[in-house]
Amino acid sequence: MSLAASLPACGGAGRPGESAESAGLAESAGSTESAGPAASVSGSGRLSLRYHPFDLQLRHTFTVAGSSRNTTPVVFTEISHEGLTGYGEASLPPYLGETRASVMGFLKRVDLGQFRDPFLVEEILEYVDALEEGHRAAKASIDIALHDLIGKMVDQPLYRLWGLNPGKAPLTSFTIGIDTPEVVRQKTREAARFRVLKVKLGGGNDREMINAVRSVTDVPLYVDVNQGWTDREQALEMVHWLKDQGVVFVEQPLPKEALDDLVWLTERSPLPIMADEAFQRLPEVAAFRGVYSGINIKLMKSTGLREARKMITVARAMGMHVMIGCMVESSCAVSAASQLSPLVDWADLDGNLLISNDPFEGVKVVDGKVTLNDWPGIGVKKLKET
Ligand code: MG
Repeated sequence: MSLAASLPACGGAGRPGESAESAGLAESAGSTESAGPAASVSGSGRLSLRYHPFDLQLRHTFTVAGSSRNTTPVVFTEISHEGLTGYGEASLPPYLGETRASVMGFLKRVDLGQFRDPFLVEEILEYVDALEEGHRAAKASIDIALHDLIGKMVDQPLYRLWGLNPGKAPLTSFTIGIDTPEVVRQKTREAARFRVLKVKLGGGNDREMINAVRSVTDVPLYVDVNQGWTDREQALEMVHWLKDQGVVFVEQPLPKEALDDLVWLTERSPLPIMADEAFQRLPEVAAFRGVYSGINIKLMKSTGLREARKMITVARAMGMHVMIGCMVESSCAVSAASQLSPLVDWADLDGNLLISNDPFEGVKVVDGKVTLNDWPGIGVKKLKET
């Protein structure tokens, strides 16, 4: 891949008249400040970071317990090294607390020009993580681009580097948001190619939602309450009813602070109770034994692939279920998460399918299954400049 071709001058990254290559390497990432001019010389062997904002357009208004929206802001990253470029993405749904400004501000402080060997993934990402607390999506955007880059350097998809069998990738669910029965039926019909659906509950019309879905399809259902229930007795009753409706697990049924109620519910629940909003990163998972039956890992919470892999190992050691999910994301971040999917029980990797302006082509859903391609790195090609 040509470096110049992969480095558009955008997001204020380059000066007019400058070549994409020199513009991209010189200024976009703020890496010249501490790395010195050497960082901007192509072929110097130093890493360079670029980034720019983008708006993902949603196909349908997206409603979960608590909010609705039509777009999701993202920041795309590119890490280049000696002619190859890895792609990354930070997705910023409002409830996560990071903004485009906070991501750009964080990335500006990241000096990758100090590194010459992209394979020092642990060292590089530990440096990035130590810069400041939080900024998980921003950190994920670097983690993803770095992993993509090293995959491209050895011309292998990440799942192969990790020794994973792409044939073990699970089905992926498609999400049906909270809506009226008519809209839910319509969305369910549109999702006919999926062999499992994820239904958002907690909006006060739970049985109506499930009945509407069930009037169209008998595929297994995942349920995500997004902390929308408050009473543990009612929650248990609902979980029993959901089991009878062919539901496989229930995600974040109660507020994450309601630890005693969650322990009580998980102990009695006939279905696995999965944690999502309750945790972000690896250290929190260790406290979940007995509180939840499993965890929903997302790269935008975990700071990326490096920590997500460690979380899977810890969760498995505690006998917990593991699923991998996503935000509304382009095929860039979704394809990155998919590289881990052979390791998990369930996947909810539909974020790229919810948007109408995906700048990347990547991992596909074929017959309802996450289908990994043999492209190197995270398995994406950039379709258009962003
Ligand atoms: Mg969730």
